[in-house]
Amino acid sequence: MYNAHSKIAEEFIANDEIIDSIEYAKSNATNRTLIESLLKKAADCQGLSHREAAVLLECNIADLNEQMFDLARRIKEKLYGNRIVMFAPLYLSNYCVNSCLYCPYHAKNKTMPRIKLTQEEIAREVIALQDMGHKRLAIESGEHPQTPIEYILESIKTIYSIKHKNGAIRRVNVNIAATTVENYQKLKEAEIGTYILFQETYQKENYERLHPHGPKSNYAYHTEAMDRAMEGGIDDVGLGVLFGLSDYQYDFVGLLMHAEHLEAVWGVGPHTISVPRICPADTIDTTLFEYGIPDDIFQKIVAVIRIAVPYTGMIVSTRESQTMREKALALGISQISGGSHTSVGGYEEEHQANETAQFDISDQRSLDEIVNWLLDLGYIPSFCTACYSSGRTGGRFMSMVKNGLIAKNCTANALITLKEYLKDYASDETRIKGEKLIDECKR
Ligand code: SF4
Repeated sequence: MYNAHSKIAEEFIANDEIIDSIEYAKSNATNRTLIESLLKKAADCQGLSHREAAVLLECNIADLNEQMFDLARRIKEKLYGNRIVMFAPLYLSNYCVNSCLYCPYHAKNKTMPRIKLTQEEIAREVIALQDMGHKRLAIESGEHPQTPIEYILESIKTIYSIKHKNGAIRRVNVNIAATTVENYQKLKEAEIGTYILFQETYQKENYERLHPHGPKSNYAYHTEAMDRAMEGGIDDVGLGVLFGLSDYQYDFVGLLMHAEHLEAVWGVGPHTISVPRICPADTIDTTLFEYGIPDDIFQKIVAVIRIAVPYTGMIVSTRESQTMREKALALGISQISGGSHTSVGGYEEEHQANETAQFDISDQRSLDEIVNWLLDLGYIPSFCTACYSSGRTGGRFMSMVKNGLIAKNCTANALITLKEYLKDYASDETRIKGEKLIDECKR
């Protein structure tokens, strides 16, 4: 039985409710009156329920789809302004005991070299990232006895301690396996930013088929992880599914139900939502995944999530191409990675980059090229982490977004951190463009 307030996975992500919502959406795909009323309701940035959002996702009336895309763009501009927050992933280890069928780090992959960075190697990676201009990282690690929570905590400490030239990493987001309340408390004490954990898929049968062995095979433990994180004091959590593992409508509805559940139980929804699509990697043939989604559906998913959950940051990574990232930015994406390596030790050792990559990167441009491109598109690349350092997290951050204060105040912070980036790291061409934008904003 569906209950958004329950802390039991199969009650807050109730299969019956998802199926009913999808059927309701399909039966209303051409219901112009209903769809127009939903767009009108969403225009004041109050969001939509998972069932209402499912109707928008199914809508097949061309002019209303156009209105939907336009509304997504306007909501993003109103609440977040034209800033785009920059970050990079940092892979610590590819040892893993799990058997996820879509990930090359799975335990049975005997061809991939296994690497766990030492603290000295992490320091060198961080220096390489600081030399690019990054201030915000997302650390990634497989799940393995070689990388216990103590290793993750020590690595976070190392990352925050490195001060190289004018560089500093000011926010470390953490993407590690589901763990205990006690370990989440330790991560909180280590001053992490967002705890990110992708559900991969909310469809339980598929989830169990795709995770045949290892601790991650426990659907309930994985799905209830964000509640344990919140219980451990982490108030910024990042949700995501890997689109392509199950029917996209199912995962779309499940994702929004998860966001509603967090809001219902903890009074604050997810800080971010990521929208990765399955992509090629070592030993992973994406053609074997029958649920792959085309670009037009991907764009619609981005737009409807932005409309349904207007206050949440939305992330698209370098899995997507430059062209697709440009389209997604216009539909509501507020954070992107840049200059990324998805391999362990990839920033310092180019050689290792391909051998241990978790997935193939589509957008291979450097951070400077991405900043330059964002400036051309009229966005302000932001390296700001002020909210985090001033304790504006969880509910405090969300209420500021809701009151329009983030769009208003953060533009200044974005410009200051852009100026810092231009001075310390940018190429001449990027610096000239950036300075011009800053001068225009002053007027
Ligand atoms: S997705 Fe994570 S848990 Fe699964 S095999 Fe890859 S690294 Fe391990």
